[in-house]
Amino acid sequence: MTELGVPGAALATDAALAALRGAVTGPVFGPDDVGLVTELAGFNLALEHAPLAVVGATSAEDIAAAVRWAAGQGVRVGVLATGHGDLAQRGTLAITTRRMDRVHVEPATRRATVGAGVKWARLVEAAAPYGLAGLNGSSTDVGIAGYTTGGGVGPFVRKYGYASDRVRRVRVVTGDGEIRDVTAASDPELFDVVLGGKDAVGIVAELEFALIEVPRMYGGGLMWGAADIPAVLRAWQEWAPTLPEEMTTSVAILRAPDVESVPAPLRGRTLAHLRVAHLGSADEGRALLGPMRAVATPVMDTVDEMSYAAIDAVHMDPTDPMPFWADGCFLADLDADAVDAVLAAAGPQQEIPLILVELRHLAGAAERGTRGLAPRDARFMVGVVGPLVPALREVVPAVARGVVEALTPWAASRTGLNWVNPYAVAARPELAWSPVERRRIEAVRRRVDPHGVLGAVRLGV
Ligand SMILES: Cc1cc2nc3c(=O)[nH]c(=O)nc-3n(C[C@H](O)[C@H](O)[C@H](O)COP(=O)(O)OP(=O)(O)OC[C@H]3O[C@@H](n4cnc5c(N)ncnc54)[C@H](O)[C@@H]3O)c2cc1C
Repeated sequence: MTELGVPGAALATDAALAALRGAVTGPVFGPDDVGLVTELAGFNLALEHAPLAVVGATSAEDIAAAVRWAAGQGVRVGVLATGHGDLAQRGTLAITTRRMDRVHVEPATRRATVGAGVKWARLVEAAAPYGLAGLNGSSTDVGIAGYTTGGGVGPFVRKYGYASDRVRRVRVVTGDGEIRDVTAASDPELFDVVLGGKDAVGIVAELEFALIEVPRMYGGGLMWGAADIPAVLRAWQEWAPTLPEEMTTSVAILRAPDVESVPAPLRGRTLAHLRVAHLGSADEGRALLGPMRAVATPVMDTVDEMSYAAIDAVHMDPTDPMPFWADGCFLADLDADAVDAVLAAAGPQQEIPLILVELRHLAGAAERGTRGLAPRDARFMVGVVGPLVPALREVVPAVARGVVEALTPWAASRTGLNWVNPYAVAARPELAWSPVERRRIEAVRRRVDPHGVLGAVRLGV
């Protein structure tokens, strides 16, 4: 796998680790501690972590103490929550956040406050009884902080925009070791960079964001067999732009692995999967979905009136940890030629090691937001996932990039960090940052992380 070396001290002395243990409340794991592997275990089993040490942070103060310790040692800092991302902690002081698990929902103001270690599932559970929801993504197993600081594209992106658009306050520990409560009014530049740069200049300790009202929804998925994939993708490309913003959809080519966790009728098959989330009545949703239901006879149709608590049923993402490589690109548009390019690169006739090639429709509120760093010229996106098992380690990243690059003629100005591989960005920063964004990040970085403790890989520095 492509890896970047991260500069920093090769080893921390016992005395230095003792000082770190004295400075934080949470546990500290040195490189020889057995607990280190468990502490870093997460969803993506392909990540080969080799950190200098790990701090299991319990508070913003713990994060700040760890960042200051790292600055004193001349080492870089990284952060890990659920391990749904694709960045390995190598040579860093890794900070884990799962102990920072506070969730507070305030129905009267429709606001939520969550700690850095909270997964979306906890927020769904806390907000659903009030008919409220956050802008989670396809899987509620993902961490709120990592997802939101990468923009966050969810099942209601067309109606409500990126998850980062709804953040009202962020408590962040910047690379200089300061704990800062930041709003769009108090420090707009830092606010934007934190909400679009993941840990480029700071580690989020707590997020406060506005919830949406979801009194009812109509959603689920439709699947078709391999022979219908070209017709389904072509029909979707024409149909999706006709929909009101209340309906967000995506379509995926799935190569379902032949494993027990996949439902038996779908196991080992290549399928088209239409994912549907509609904010409105079943009657409206049914009428809108009619043309897609008529394309061909589906092998599965779960789209119906549903409660928001069942939102994971829309995308049916895997929940068991797996080794994977992900890549993707935001698209300014998706015409019939673009669909042909997808079919040529990843259609059912291709024998390629990709579990998922997904096209999502973004056009709507995501184009209108003003905060964060998310690009505003993306009307579609493509996301690609492959299994990073040992036999395919050298193959999957190149095949994934090949599919993404087949869509380069339709690319938007850049791609949000949740959807472009960090090692691809390290080699080609322009995939994620335009010169303007890059200058904004550098300016903030000089101010709040003057020694460059954070952001090594993503910024390619
Ligand atoms: C099954 C699956 C489904 C997904 N669905 C979607 C989706 O629908 N929409 C979407 O936009 N993305 C989606 N993603 C991508 C996901 O949002 C990103 O990978 C996100 O970074 C995961 O964050 P995490 O904390 O769960 O993972 P981790 O691997 O723990 O963290 C990933 C990265 O997030 C950053 N990060 C984590 N915590 C913090 C913090 N406290 N402060 C600053 N930075 C932090 C760090 O850079 C870290 O390297 C999906 C990923 C998977 C595996």
